[in-house]
Amino acid sequence: MADVGFVSKALPGCRPFLSSSAMSAAPRCALSTGHQISRRALLGAGASLAAALWIRPGTKLFDAIADESIADAFSVPPLPYSYSALEPAIDAATMRLHHDKHFAAYTEKLNKAVSALGDPSLKTDEALAKKLGNLKSIGDEKLRTTLRNNGGGYLNHKQFFASLKAKSKGSPSGNIAKAIESQYGSFDKFVETFSDSAKSLFGSGFVWLVKRKSGQLDIRKFANQDHPSMSADGSVALLGCDCWEHAYYLKYNNKRADYVAAWWSVVNWDEVNRRFDTGTL
Ligand code: MN
Repeated sequence: MADVGFVSKALPGCRPFLSSSAMSAAPRCALSTGHQISRRALLGAGASLAAALWIRPGTKLFDAIADESIADAFSVPPLPYSYSALEPAIDAATMRLHHDKHFAAYTEKLNKAVSALGDPSLKTDEALAKKLGNLKSIGDEKLRTTLRNNGGGYLNHKQFFASLKAKSKGSPSGNIAKAIESQYGSFDKFVETFSDSAKSLFGSGFVWLVKRKSGQLDIRKFANQDHPSMSADGSVALLGCDCWEHAYYLKYNNKRADYVAAWWSVVNWDEVNRRFDTGTL
């Protein structure tokens, strides 16, 4: 087994599969031996165990089993490369913490918020993006804030890790290259403009390259875990740079500019082109 991925705390030995949107019909867990077990089987086993132990519903163990059945609408996809693949730009220790702890924590809290909302249609990335574009529809302020922070955190990180790769060619090709040249004059000028935004972003947040509904590109700063989908203006999130200290502090300390400069060398331009061409997450 490669040293990638997120191991479920609730079910040792189980590892969530790829995104819920891509794999919604797939079983959620596979034992490390390769045996797959369904949620129904897990629930049944949990209920049998609870019955055998004379545990009444309402106790913590029973709740833990029940929560597992509904709190898994979203999952952390394993990294499509090893933790050390992006070195020296991004070190393995940072990747391990960032993906397995930070991304996982946003996802876990998102799942709890989704459970609390009780909306069964809220189980794909697309549905989540739509909800984030209409947060005011959530009446409960605390729940609205939780979904904003953790739904945004989930989408930001899912797209962030997917937009990186080892041995990147360093500059774009295809339609995104043409769009960047046409709008910014040159790729170098674009990098300079985007990097200035990343360096000047105050506090924690993301800088995103987006494609507006009109087709024009835009470089936008987002505070905290806000995501371009929250703009609800039809813009497409193309490439986001995580400017939170957790993304770079272990290696770069306070030198965000050095991190941003190195980050360009591991951008997956094929993925950016896919988003540009398809308009999808
Ligand atoms: Mn992050």
